[in-house]
Amino acid sequence: MDYLGFAAEHLQGLKDEGRYRVFNALKRQVGAFPEVVWHGDGKSMPVTVWCSNDYLNMGHHPAVIEAMDAALHTHGAGAGGTRNISGTNILHEELEAEVASLHQKEAALIFTSGYVANEAALCTLAARLPDCVIFSDSKNHASMIEGMRLSRAERVIFKHNDLADLEEKLAAYPKERAKIVAFESVYSMDGDISDIGATCDLAHKYGALTYLDEVHAVGLYGPHGGGVAERDKVLDKVDIVEGTFAKAFGVQGGYVATSPVFVDFIRSFASGFIFTTSMSPVLTAGALASVRHLKQDDALRQRHQERAATLKARLRAANIPVMDNPSHIVPVMVYDAALCQEASNMLLHDHGIYVQAINYPTVPKGMERLRFTPTPHHTDAHMDHLVKSLITVWEKLSPPRLPVEQAA
Ligand SMILES: *Cc1c(COP(=O)(O)O)cnc(C)c1O
Repeated sequence: MDYLGFAAEHLQGLKDEGRYRVFNALKRQVGAFPEVVWHGDGKSMPVTVWCSNDYLNMGHHPAVIEAMDAALHTHGAGAGGTRNISGTNILHEELEAEVASLHQKEAALIFTSGYVANEAALCTLAARLPDCVIFSDSKNHASMIEGMRLSRAERVIFKHNDLADLEEKLAAYPKERAKIVAFESVYSMDGDISDIGATCDLAHKYGALTYLDEVHAVGLYGPHGGGVAERDKVLDKVDIVEGTFAKAFGVQGGYVATSPVFVDFIRSFASGFIFTTSMSPVLTAGALASVRHLKQDDALRQRHQERAATLKARLRAANIPVMDNPSHIVPVMVYDAALCQEASNMLLHDHGIYVQAINYPTVPKGMERLRFTPTPHHTDAHMDHLVKSLITVWEKLSPPRLPVEQAA
């Protein structure tokens, strides 16, 4: 077998479809965000980042950097083992207590990433609960899908944020059968937000557990950054909430917050928790400092929301097709994979604006877009330049002007 030939042919397939991924290497500089230096094709240039998931730039916050610096010099670089074998640091336990309190739960468990948290927690619950069936929102993240797939439990996909469809599907199964309803709060590509309270009430009516991914909401919503469930005052309805330290908190790692019995259960049976070196004390200290800071910095959250709303209004005024939604995510629709890539390239090379093209399979074919994530550090001047640049790019490329879908 020509192994390399096989791999090369498959890569060519991606290139032919215009969805081969080219990474943009950036050199970030503490204090300069969102200005970075882009490196590629043997050259470098200053650009403004418009697509970072470090939504509040907490990755550069002095409280976070100082905590990480101190942890490095106290505890050293790595954790030194798995949680079970010499790798549980007192900082891990502090962080778990902090996160449990953030979500008003009795316990929490941290993982090396949000991806691993979803995969490990969902897989463990779905595989071990007897004859479990999972009801999964059609737009759920790959990490949840992978956890469900690995569990080999029966899966039922319900229409995105469609509670009538979910109810119909739940009702088709006996009430006694073990069930999990898995969904997200803020969906990161359309920026729409689910009705957490109503979804949980429905799930509980049919005897299901509720599993909520708040990865794009923790740190950003709720008076303490406890996510949309905190904002909507429905934290008690969510049986298991999952989050990340890598987006609004600006560091790395993931977690679930739930009841002590479920934490014990996942801790005891989840392969992705047990058989890997625990989170570095440096990252743990950074995450801890970031969660603590954002618990009391509501002004930063307000400024973030104001920036996103301002950008959406300005794009709309300039007739740039921005998808309306109630969140901090600003999707600008291009509806074509090649044009989307071309728009991203033009913005980068002609205008010093870095926004990644979002193509299939992250979004459906025909729904390609540029996904802007304005942060509290994006000024009116940054927005002036962005809007002007987008107008120029739209004049040159004239992507299809379809009626812009309004996210719920
Ligand atoms: C990014 C993401 C994850 C994974 O989190 P990481 O900490 O980056 O591994 C999980 N769920 C959703 C919805 C995400 O967008």
